Amino acid sequence: FAINMEQLKLEQELGRGNYGTVKKVLHKPTNVEMAMKEIRLELDSAKLNGILMELDILHRAISPHIVEFYGAFFVESCVYYCMEYMDGGSLASLCCDPPGANVLVGSGRFAPPPGEREGSEEQLEEMAKPRVTEPLLARFAASMARGLKFLKDELGVMHRDVKPTNVLVSTKGFIKLCDFGVSGQLEKSIARTNVGCQSYMAPERIKGSSPTPNDDAFMSYSVSADIWSLGLSIVEVARGRYPYPPETYENVFAQLSAIVDGEAPGLPDDEEDMPVVNGAAKSDDEDNDDEDDFKDAEEEVTSESGETAETPKQNEAPAWGSEVTRKWSPEARDWVNKCLIKNASERASYAELLDHPWLKADADREVDTASWVKRAMAWRDTHHRGSSWGGE
Ligand code: ATP
Ligand code: MG
Repeated sequence: FAINMEQLKLEQELGRGNYGTVKKVLHKPTNVEMAMKEIRLELDSAKLNGILMELDILHRAISPHIVEFYGAFFVESCVYYCMEYMDGGSLASLCCDPPGANVLVGSGRFAPPPGEREGSEEQLEEMAKPRVTEPLLARFAASMARGLKFLKDELGVMHRDVKPTNVLVSTKGFIKLCDFGVSGQLEKSIARTNVGCQSYMAPERIKGSSPTPNDDAFMSYSVSADIWSLGLSIVEVARGRYPYPPETYENVFAQLSAIVDGEAPGLPDDEEDMPVVNGAAKSDDEDNDDEDDFKDAEEEVTSESGETAETPKQNEAPAWGSEVTRKWSPEARDWVNKCLIKNASERASYAELLDHPWLKADADREVDTASWVKRAMAWRDTHHRGSSWGGE
């Protein structure tokens, strides 16, 4: 049945993007919590039905990796799009600095150095940002790749806007994609306020056309452009910030040039991005409470047989991507690099990405995404209050 505005009770704002706002709403007839996105359009009313027809395909987008679509309607010059409410918000809000964070002081990523720390160990532990361990990163990658493959195989569409704010998570542990471009008509009618300071577009998309799609441009690149954006998103989630230099955030041309002409980004080198443990960056051998730190990593991973991973001894090399090392495995690096090949025709396909050892290992592993989401939400809601990541 069709949803309309009268049936909805408006609750709090969930976020704001380039094209409109997203609010939490209660659908009174069914008592279902939904997220409602308002998109301001510039168009004549004759096009409205065409858009609604195109959006109808969304009712077929039923997959564990895709945010469920409930319906859309128009009021005046806006389209209202109702979808499943994801209580963890976006992956970006849980892992990444808010846009413009290069100028924000004290976003909380790195707490003061050991000598300057204040508070009990317990308090400091609470302050530490929950880390994206390698098993978590692999799970995000696998969910996104499966969702994108579903869109392509089952609906015959590509996503066109893969980025960490369009990956939503829930406290039940679900990881789902939203905001994919099924409607060329809608895309063309959106009143764009600005182009955004962080581009996830593949080099061939930047080279090929203007950022405002016309019919030709809408079709002139292929699914492999989504795979670039997927790789870039995974790198961003691993690093905690957009991978191209902050100097380019306010200079669209510099950023697009870096994407087209520069070297493709990858997972950070081992020394480059030290972990946050007890609120401070530290190196492997700085002190000897490493075993404590491993507990966290262990909680996230349990092998299929139900055994927990072995606790590494003091002098053994710590596990890849653990809470301690911030070392990404060669498999993880290889996977990302295969997404971020600048030449689109050499980039990996979904089949190759899902068959890759990195994601094969993910499929055999239990990952407690739910508990990570809860911890990351608690961190976000205390540290990002008032920033664009909100915090209720
Ligand atoms: P852009 O406008 O470029 O797509 P964006 O993805 O950040 O950027 P929106 O899609 O408008 O902008 O979403 C804004 C924010 O609203 C998201 O970052 C997310 O935190 C929140 N949000 C969107 N959809 C949902 C949902 N279904 N459930 C919960 N939160 C949501
Ligand atoms: Mg979005």
